Formats: sequence, structure tokens, C-alpha cells
Amino acid sequence: MTCKSCGHVHYLTRAAICSSPEREFLYLDEVEKEAACRARGCRGAVRLAMAPRGDTSAFVGGLA
Ligand SMILES: [Zn+2]
Repeated sequence: MTCKSCGHVHYLTRAAICSSPEREFLYLDEVEKEAACRARGCRGAVRLAMAPRGDTSAFVGGLA
């Protein structure tokens, strides 16, 4: 996710974002509303952005 205020980028794993894959897209909206920038002193609103599919595939392949 990217901070709308300071541009700080946070990386979240899918597991950290949601525990229920079939509700992923419903829940992402809630996460975005509740999330705040973790940069020191910022606490700005953040925007969620999923990692490119290619990167995800490479990551999974690396684990397997
Ligand atoms: Zn920020």
C-alpha cells in the first residue's frame, strides 16, 4: 500500500490482509479504510495496490 500523504510504501502479505480468500476484494476495501501510514509521525491514509501477477507467481515458485 502507498501512503497518500508522504508516499511511503508498505508491503503486506496476502495473509496479513485477509484470512478469507473468497472475501478478499470485499475486505481490501475495509483494510484500506482502517489502515494508516506507519511512517513515523505521518499516519496518513493509504492506498492499497496488489503486487503484479508476475511477481506473485515468481514468489510462489520460489517457495515451491
Ligand atoms: Zn505517510
